[in-house]
Amino acid sequence: MANRKGLIFDIQGFSVHDGPGCRTLVFLKGCPLRCKWCSNPEGIEPHIQLMYYRDRCVMDYACKYACKSHAIHVQRTEAPITINRKICNQCIDFECINACNYNALNISGYYMTVDELMGKIQKDRQYWGPKGGVTLSGGEPMFQPDFTRAVLQQCYDSYIHTAMETSGYAAWIHYKKVLDYLEWIFFDLKHMDQKMHKMGTGLSNKLILNNARKIASQKENKLVFRMPIIPGFNDSLENIIATAEFLNSIDMKEINILPLHHLGSSKYDLLSLKYYYKEHLITPTSVQMEKIRDIFGNYSIKCYIGSNTPF
Ligand code: SF4
Ligand code: SF4
Repeated sequence: MANRKGLIFDIQGFSVHDGPGCRTLVFLKGCPLRCKWCSNPEGIEPHIQLMYYRDRCVMDYACKYACKSHAIHVQRTEAPITINRKICNQCIDFECINACNYNALNISGYYMTVDELMGKIQKDRQYWGPKGGVTLSGGEPMFQPDFTRAVLQQCYDSYIHTAMETSGYAAWIHYKKVLDYLEWIFFDLKHMDQKMHKMGTGLSNKLILNNARKIASQKENKLVFRMPIIPGFNDSLENIIATAEFLNSIDMKEINILPLHHLGSSKYDLLSLKYYYKEHLITPTSVQMEKIRDIFGNYSIKCYIGSNTPF
């Protein structure tokens, strides 16, 4: 179990918005959903990906000659490179990165064993203070259920406070295996309507709502529901009321709403992806957020806006 490997794309210390106290945040790669507003696009695919920083590129094409798979193309001289992602996603040696002297190529994703990750976590421990701990995020941590379980179990056995941010989209059998080692769960609710959910995320909400019901009924873990507020997608009165009624139906009385932001938009270019909101960088106003909070309030749901919450 200690040698089990997981694919991680970032580890951040000193996080204060993802669970109690100061925390180490571990981002696991791979997610079944394709949310149009995703702020961590480098965490979606469950494999290592090449990232191309066009602004650093001097177009000497050393990478093109280094790539044995011929995945890099140049349309004309003095033009930025283009990457054949289908070929590139299979790469194992990443020779292009070594060939580039300008730091214009990098990778998202690296493998770590449970032991290696625990070593890093134990080093951070001195900075957390009495309330802190570890939060697994992503991507979707449940996309690597065995690795996630092993890390949570080791943390739990070492008296480290554990939390996880999840989309809710994983087989119940996997959730069942981690719940004993998990103290806090941040659980996303994106839309109550199945068709709309599929439109915004690529998948139906059926499994997510079923998992939410089951976890809520256990009452053993601290369960915090989070809802990103995406103007024109899930901010209608009808959907807010449906969300409040769902929470009441499972006897949950709190929600944390988070306004859409576009901080991850530049990362789409690095991965040769198109950001859905690129042309319209809309965000909900504070007045809109407060209105939504008040609607939840009308349904006896305590609603917290943004990251400044008791969570
Ligand atoms: S080697 Fe680096 S600087 Fe040169 S073309 Fe490739 S990415 Fe650009
Ligand atoms: S990551 Fe591998 S396949 Fe992709 S461009 Fe670099 S060397 Fe070629």
